[in-house]
Amino acid sequence: MPIRRLAPAVVNQIAAGEVVERPASVVKEVLENAFDAGARRVDIEIAGGGRDLIRIADDGEGIPADQLALAVEAHATSKIESATDLEGVSTMGFRGEALASIASVSRFMLESRTKGDDEAWRIEVNDGVIGSPAPTAGPPGTRVEVRNLFHTVPARRRFLKSETAESARIAEVVRLLALARPTIGFRLVSNGRCLLDLPATDDPRRRIVGVLGEELDGRLIEVRGEIGSPADGTLTSVWGLVGLPETARPTAKNQRFILNGRAIVDRSLSHALKEGFRGLVEPGRHPVGVCYLEMNPARVDVNVHPAKTEVRFREARPLHGLVRRAIQEALQEADLVRNLAIETSAEAPAGEPSAREGTAPERPTIVTRSSWSGPGSGAGGPSRSTSHPSSPRAGSDRSSAGRSRTSSGVDLARAREAVGDVPMPTATPASPATPAVEVLPTLVGADAVLQVHQSFLVTQDSEGLVIIDQHALHERVMFEKLHDRYAAGPLESQRQLVPIVFDADPASIAALESLAPLLERLGIEATAAGPRGVAIHGFPTLLVSRRVDPGPFLSELLERAAQGEIDRDDHEAALADVLDVMSCKAAVKAGDRLGEREIAELLAMRDRIDREGSCPHGRPTHLRIPIAELERRFGRSPG
Ligand code: ADP
Ligand code: MG
Repeated sequence: MPIRRLAPAVVNQIAAGEVVERPASVVKEVLENAFDAGARRVDIEIAGGGRDLIRIADDGEGIPADQLALAVEAHATSKIESATDLEGVSTMGFRGEALASIASVSRFMLESRTKGDDEAWRIEVNDGVIGSPAPTAGPPGTRVEVRNLFHTVPARRRFLKSETAESARIAEVVRLLALARPTIGFRLVSNGRCLLDLPATDDPRRRIVGVLGEELDGRLIEVRGEIGSPADGTLTSVWGLVGLPETARPTAKNQRFILNGRAIVDRSLSHALKEGFRGLVEPGRHPVGVCYLEMNPARVDVNVHPAKTEVRFREARPLHGLVRRAIQEALQEADLVRNLAIETSAEAPAGEPSAREGTAPERPTIVTRSSWSGPGSGAGGPSRSTSHPSSPRAGSDRSSAGRSRTSSGVDLARAREAVGDVPMPTATPASPATPAVEVLPTLVGADAVLQVHQSFLVTQDSEGLVIIDQHALHERVMFEKLHDRYAAGPLESQRQLVPIVFDADPASIAALESLAPLLERLGIEATAAGPRGVAIHGFPTLLVSRRVDPGPFLSELLERAAQGEIDRDDHEAALADVLDVMSCKAAVKAGDRLGEREIAELLAMRDRIDREGSCPHGRPTHLRIPIAELERRFGRSPG
């Protein structure tokens, strides 16, 4: 066969292979055109999973009658003029191939009316043949109708999934685009049934909750950050909402990134989100988060792939740091203590103090509640954490006065100082004679503390009863402390007069070799001793003081590393993993009976840690039973 130029209709069909993979891609392209046209509202109607019909109407600026034919021609666009325009595209489209591609594989109709015109015009494309525009009745804006998608390419039609699956994909695309544009109203109807109805809003929080689920209402934390400077065009900002750790899910589906209004998929950003939650979400679960990034369009290349969901950043590293830090900072400020029966606390009228005035603590010192709880929780009344200066606490005050001698040494400041250099609580082994519940005198601030079953500490904060898992909290404290120490310089190591030697398999020895520099900075000096042994020459003073047995400790650590539980490729991750093990071993255990001073120290220390809500493995350290919940359970609901 001689070489021939392909007919435009064939060229378009080939291009369609890239741009319109399935009905959902048609929906995406047509919606993005509506965005570019400044639409405030879009209506999407589909039938047969989009194979039979996709009809999308917008109220954007419209297309002049004399340009309708051009709109469906390949490589015809109103959005760029020259290759240099590609350097800073701010519209969703610019390739000028979507409508041409879609029209080449369907029975296609485009109808539009510009604001100034008093009639609409329509044009049809059948089998690649563009008809001539004809006047018709219709409101300002654009309507696109796509019927019998892929009827000219049966191979592609056969490749589609079931009707339900294709509708689900369309709904997914619409949801994603709706997240990207909260100020646009969206409605999706499938086979006459309304699947989505999202009114336009100026509050992205409303849209996020509307798309990701009402259960996130009041459980989202705002994140924000900024790097670079407007002077040299490097200003990059992030604003977003992330779910509290407890809202994490088994899949990463509810993690979304919107860059300059475009929903994108980016591995580095997903990683940053995950890192932001490090230690707060259990492995295997994925935090929820929607992050909106704004940056100079010239600093990102969106022309990497026809679908434009993947982009290339000029500099990805700073962006990763920006997102991770913004999330970490927001989480640090948030109250991450989980409320038990959280759903009922919302029923209690906000700022209605009468029923619990008598029990409100004078100094809500322990857990500070911050603004994350969203518009729902505090609306219409004063904040719950408002202190009640005149509230009588005669009972506990008297008891504290009576015992002031025993507790004289444990004011907060002193307790904090005392733990500055880690004389960590040394647990007393439980004795059978010890009562399960011990009432301790006033310890921290003005709040009494009980140790229950030698495992839990019970106290209060401004909102209710707080139960602390002593091991999980101590572990968290140790983790933060070790992390800070590590950053400041190598940990102090106690040298062994005679090396401690233990048996190890070759995999553990290999793990030791790769981890040795890190371990050394942590005060663990160890070398291989022959092909099947490890010798410990030095061990961190801190672990020695916590009576951690060096042999079993390192043996377990190396075994875990050999099994891949410790990430040896990424330094930060490896450090965190090793610190996890160290803090777990050094922490007081459930069953350790703690003395008054030790409890005071532990409670004082938690003010200094960033993430008191969870242990390094993401399990909770604290739980709260809100006063409102207690009132409800005791049939004492206010009002
Ligand atoms: P691109 O979006 O890359 O420019 P398309 O094939 O998607 O290419 O659209 C071609 C042109 O048709 C656009 O540049 C725009 O001028 C016009 N157009 C398409 N859809 C709309 C719409 N909904 N409202 C206004 N103009 C539109
Ligand atoms: Mg387009």
